[in-house]
Amino acid sequence: MSCIFDKIVAGEIPSNKVLENDKFLAFHDINPKAPVHILIIPKKHYENFQEMDPTLMGEMTKFIQEVAIAIGVDKTGYRLVTNCGENSGQEVPHLHFHMLGGTMLKWTDNHQHDPKSSF
Ligand code: AMP
Repeated sequence: MSCIFDKIVAGEIPSNKVLENDKFLAFHDINPKAPVHILIIPKKHYENFQEMDPTLMGEMTKFIQEVAIAIGVDKTGYRLVTNCGENSGQEVPHLHFHMLGGTMLKWTDNHQHDPKSSF
């Protein structure tokens, strides 16, 4: 059974695309936690970062840099987050990086605080 991001890749579920090539896709998060909140995924299904092919990750690094330029945060800065597995609270089982920016982002190490409420 394909996951929700596989369906976005296949065009079965709509997404607000930022950038795309044959291997990767970037689209706006449906529930943004910052003025800029983009999700960046490999089109091939990897459950999370721990499963990712390191060689493909090299190519993905370049794509992520291109997304930052395309969305205009390459100079102002951004945060890149990937939730990997159960303890991280990963909800969608398809590797994705959250690119957050467009404002001065908060940082917290408070374990009682839900990091996803503000990043
Ligand atoms: P995570 O908890 O790291 O797995 O993050 C999953 C992210 O996917 C959340 O920020 C959701 O808002 C986002 N999301 C879920 N479904 C969609 C969708 N159909 N289009 C865009 N973003 C989505």
